[in-house]
Amino acid sequence: MTRLVVVGAGITGLAAAFEWRRRRPDDEIVVVEAGDRIGGKLDRIRLAGTWYDTGPEALLGRVPEAVGLVEALGWGDRLVAPATTQASVVLPEGRFPLPAGTVLGVPASADGLDGVLTPTGVARVRAEVELPPLSLPDGDVAVGGLLRERLGDEVVDRLVEPLLGGVYAGRADELSLAATMPALAAQVRGAGSVLEAAAAARDAGSRSRFDADGPVFVTVDAGIGALPAALVEAARAEVRLRTPAHGLRRTAGGFEVSVGTAAAPEVLTADAVILTAPATKAARLLGEVAPRAVDPLRGIPYASMAVVAIAFPVQDVPAGSGLLVPPVTGRLVKGVTVSSAKWPHLAGGEALLVRSSVGRFGDESQLQRSDEELAADVVADVAELLGLSRPEPLETRVARWGGGLPQYLVGHPERVAAARAAVGEVPGLAVAGAAYEGVGVPACIRDAHRAVDALA
Ligand SMILES: Cc1cc2nc3c(=O)[nH]c(=O)nc-3n(C[C@H](O)[C@H](O)[C@H](O)COP(=O)(O)OP(=O)(O)OC[C@H]3O[C@@H](n4cnc5c(N)ncnc54)[C@H](O)[C@@H]3O)c2cc1C
Repeated sequence: MTRLVVVGAGITGLAAAFEWRRRRPDDEIVVVEAGDRIGGKLDRIRLAGTWYDTGPEALLGRVPEAVGLVEALGWGDRLVAPATTQASVVLPEGRFPLPAGTVLGVPASADGLDGVLTPTGVARVRAEVELPPLSLPDGDVAVGGLLRERLGDEVVDRLVEPLLGGVYAGRADELSLAATMPALAAQVRGAGSVLEAAAAARDAGSRSRFDADGPVFVTVDAGIGALPAALVEAARAEVRLRTPAHGLRRTAGGFEVSVGTAAAPEVLTADAVILTAPATKAARLLGEVAPRAVDPLRGIPYASMAVVAIAFPVQDVPAGSGLLVPPVTGRLVKGVTVSSAKWPHLAGGEALLVRSSVGRFGDESQLQRSDEELAADVVADVAELLGLSRPEPLETRVARWGGGLPQYLVGHPERVAAARAAVGEVPGLAVAGAAYEGVGVPACIRDAHRAVDALA
């Protein structure tokens, strides 16, 4: 019998445990988790009497692994498609529907941009064809730098920044094109213009079985935060909470993982180890076994954020799934999801359920207020943005996500490749998770499967 030790009980660690169990029914699987609950960034609360996600709330169908995992758990009938995905961007001049057919906000033409860009901004996009053909330096570039030069500042500040802010809590001027927009990066080198590359990237977007006849996003009616417990059960894994891993060494037959607190240290032997802790934590564990992975992983910083979940009295709200709020507005909130409008299973209850996120990379000062102050300031922003007639909330809850999202800065793919190469030299060891090749839950599950493929 083989013993697998998984470090970290977030979605990556638990998906790895589940996948391992499916392939190797008789192995022993131990998941060690530093915190006092499973799920990592996945969590759900009771809000106005219903289950409500305070971490991820939507799963991208285009990366099929999340839908596949939910189906493998026997929960396929619990997948819910959104009633609407039409979001709007809030700008100093007002609110505008997010144009269709962009690649994370990068337009494929100047059509449909009126309003969200000023006439000057639209003209600047249209004029890209008059620029010299696109020629990029070798290696990775920043999203913001490329787009500002080719399409103008407005595309970045009013379209791309709010979308990247939503997915990465990051800033377009620092984020890697190759890592955050791989489909566009793949097209951009052979293309004459960014518009041409965006059109090709959009058309090349593969679609999973689920979204071929349905939506781009799905959720789970019990909350995505319900998946961790289901995974632990299905994986028949032993989960040890409050058990941080703090050392890893190779032995003749495998590994020794030092776990536990100073008061209760313990050494676990393992034949295989999958590290799914955030990059900075993984780096600390790799010093002895894969020292060349340490610096690349330390070079991946994290943004912190908070999600404020609010139950308002039922009332009319503008149509659509929510609002993206870029920094040019000077607002505290960076996004508002009207969950009761977006998800059919959250509609029609006794409250209007809304969540709003705060915090961008490099601007954690916004989070330096008590939960009460943060909730009050967010409620005020949300009530004004949605034009609520009954702005007094019935209930608010604040979820803080310190180190919530890794930042894929320029050069990220090289850092990941270097770390993976170093770890790959150690038989029986793998790293996986949001730090590497996609922060979304489906990408984390895909990375977990990749780790299992490599070791099992
Ligand atoms: C507010 C928010 C909203 C999001 N919304 C979406 C969304 O709508 N859709 C989507 O697809 N994605 C979304 N994401 C991204 C996604 O949720 C995360 O990227 C993903 O859940 C990360 O999973 P993970 O397992 O890689 O890492 P984590 O969830 O961070 O899990 C790692 C675990 O390792 C543990 N750990 C750390 N150090 C040690 C150690 N030394 N020993 C043992 N354990 C350790 C941690 O405590 C943690 O439990 C969102 C993220 C946030 C923060």
